[in-house]
Amino acid sequence: MSPLERRRVEETLAQTLAHAAGAPFYKRRWGSKWKRVTTVEELSRLPLLDKALASRHQAALLTSPRPAGVGTFSSGTTRGEAYSDPLHVPVTAVEREARAAALPDELVDDGYPGWKLSVISVHHGLPRTTPGPDELRVPWLHDLNALSMLETVLRQPQPDGRQVTAMTIGSGPLKVFTSWLAQRGLEPRKFGVRLIGTYSYRLSPQWQSLVEERFEARVYDNYSLSELGTPFTSCDACGLLHMGHPPLAIEVLALDGPGPAPRGTPGRLVFTTLYPFTQVMPLIRYDSGDVGLEGPICRLTRLRGYQVLGRLRHGLAVRGQFVLNPVAVRDVLESSPLVSRTPHPMTRLGLVDSIDVGPPRWRVALEQRVAVLEVEVRFDPDVYRAQARALEESILEGVCAVDPTTSRWARAGRVRVRLQQRVAALTERYD
Ligand SMILES: [Zn+2]
Repeated sequence: MSPLERRRVEETLAQTLAHAAGAPFYKRRWGSKWKRVTTVEELSRLPLLDKALASRHQAALLTSPRPAGVGTFSSGTTRGEAYSDPLHVPVTAVEREARAAALPDELVDDGYPGWKLSVISVHHGLPRTTPGPDELRVPWLHDLNALSMLETVLRQPQPDGRQVTAMTIGSGPLKVFTSWLAQRGLEPRKFGVRLIGTYSYRLSPQWQSLVEERFEARVYDNYSLSELGTPFTSCDACGLLHMGHPPLAIEVLALDGPGPAPRGTPGRLVFTTLYPFTQVMPLIRYDSGDVGLEGPICRLTRLRGYQVLGRLRHGLAVRGQFVLNPVAVRDVLESSPLVSRTPHPMTRLGLVDSIDVGPPRWRVALEQRVAVLEVEVRFDPDVYRAQARALEESILEGVCAVDPTTSRWARAGRVRVRLQQRVAALTERYD
């Protein structure tokens, strides 16, 4: 965090912990240890919490027995994760008001005079609050109605004559919607949307440029966890992600131990929600399961820049290093039409023709000190050997160009790309 962000966090840390200590879960685990924590570094005196643990003990994480929730953010809904119960984080009216009251001036006005369309994934929980001023909301689900609803709202002006000029939408739905419009010969640039913010997983450069071209809009990458409610948005000035509102305490912990990650090396992203923005279910030292890298402080915003490298379990953590980082791998694989994709539910249902809207199929493994990237392809690499070798080389080159750790390993001959016709791919989100 930058000094500015640290100051904001530490102003409220003591109150945050005093409040959280009222939840049975923290009371049991912390004893009185929390009383000696006043700085972000001192948070390390408290134990970590991860999603599996939080979802098992979610009732005991509440500071009041029957919270008057106005909405719920749920997480853990992705298929195949190691636990069955999603974590439901209630959001109360009091919290919502505290967040709105402390909103920095620059976020109050988005600078776009039209309506903003928010497309909400229903499996993350539908907010029961009314939309904000100039905001329209539509639910996203794997159904033709969701696509038609989006098109209807964008196609014509609202009753006051203004069009939708900005949109927030999950990266999965955005890919599906873009393809669905294309297959029907429609030109989304005519809608007049000029700003698109994405959530869920990162949109790869391949898709980002396609969407920007078709919509004639700027796409802003966003990193967020549904249970935290604070987006990290890409910055025009420095190109890195900055923490949005409400603020969180951020720790970047070493991949191979409990301490902080050495400067300039990737680490586990651990977040603490703060009082008064989060009151009913405080998440203290919540290990996101994601790996990130601290960059420099941005000259324009005075905020710390962050880079998110993806899920820890989707890459290879070896002695504190993160090889074949999933964001780099995915970005590169999505640029090739020869790599297989897991069919998106909308494709399987026959609603969208494109076979390229689902996530690419791949996995990583460590084999005798060699990092192996197994990639499923749409041809038989044993029949088309020359093409297979060329693709393996270009994938490796592509990943090395954006991932310095993998590049170092490759120079030492410790990375291999292996093409296969079937890969037991890791589970990724569709949304
Ligand atoms: Zn910046």
